[in-house]
Amino acid sequence: MSGHPVGRLAPSPTGAQHVGNARTFLLAWLSIRRRDGRLLLRIEDLDSPRTKRGAAAQALDDLRWLGLDWDAGPDRPGVEGPFVQTERSEDYRRALDELAAAERIYPCTCSRTDIADAASAPHWEHEGPRYPGTCAGRSASDARALEPGTFAWRFRTLPGEWSYRDRNDEWRSCRVADELGDFVVAKKDGTAAYQLAVVRDDHAMGVTEVVRGDDLLASTFRQLQLYRSFGWEPPTFRHVPLVVGDDGKRLAKRHGDTRLATYRELGVAPERLIGLLAWSLGLIDEERAITPRELLDRFDWQRVRATGPWVFGADEHRRLVG
Ligand code: GLU
Ligand code: ZN
Repeated sequence: MSGHPVGRLAPSPTGAQHVGNARTFLLAWLSIRRRDGRLLLRIEDLDSPRTKRGAAAQALDDLRWLGLDWDAGPDRPGVEGPFVQTERSEDYRRALDELAAAERIYPCTCSRTDIADAASAPHWEHEGPRYPGTCAGRSASDARALEPGTFAWRFRTLPGEWSYRDRNDEWRSCRVADELGDFVVAKKDGTAAYQLAVVRDDHAMGVTEVVRGDDLLASTFRQLQLYRSFGWEPPTFRHVPLVVGDDGKRLAKRHGDTRLATYRELGVAPERLIGLLAWSLGLIDEERAITPRELLDRFDWQRVRATGPWVFGADEHRRLVG
């Protein structure tokens, strides 16, 4: 790839950032900083009912506490701005017009229950049921006859097997139309859905590398189809296995409090947490306090040992606070 790499940290202000988010952010930061790239911070606040007041500011504080920085974001001007998704809706609107004109999307009036009743079981972990195609016979212009607010826009998935190369040269593939099905690009209230917004933003901001959790693997295939529809080159995608609790399930509230803000309040040094994360990734041989900057020299994706989920259990928690 020519020029400097551009990456992004993209927290969702739907709750507090926890140890799992920190591990992914650390890798995204190391990957870009190691190559003198440009790092952006974008707030993904489209999930309005779940967005919590103050969570965006808290996420920025958490990232700073970890010792991570960025070149532009809501707190630092940059040509790529605005850096908050709810301020970028004009571009999402243009995208929908473009997709409608090309008949790549159609209005879908199904409710969640309709879909759950008609759908078969999901093929993919972390995914809901595959949309059964109930409204796929409609064309984009059929939306004119529908009451605004009663339909979402769904992307008509493209056929065939889709592949891309992930971290450490692993090829991943998916028959998107069969395995995932047509997906929502705008919700019934007219606002853009995550899949559309993230592609529009990453492209507009010149992002060349996306580092994120494994839970978004299926979304990557959907996003590849959007890149193709807009005629754009997709970025490099690198997925990082999730952090799980002692029971092997994705880290959540029931595993106890692993919010970064809590460790900060307990007086845990961020270098301790970074050290634990770096050790879990195979970047240092022994667990010890270290800063993200001190890890730069040794960072290399080939060294990253993250082939399966990492357990952050009661023992790891005790090692941090003890
Ligand atoms: N905002 C998403 C999250 O916090 C990340 C989306 C992405 O990296 O594409 O999980
Ligand atoms: Zn439908």
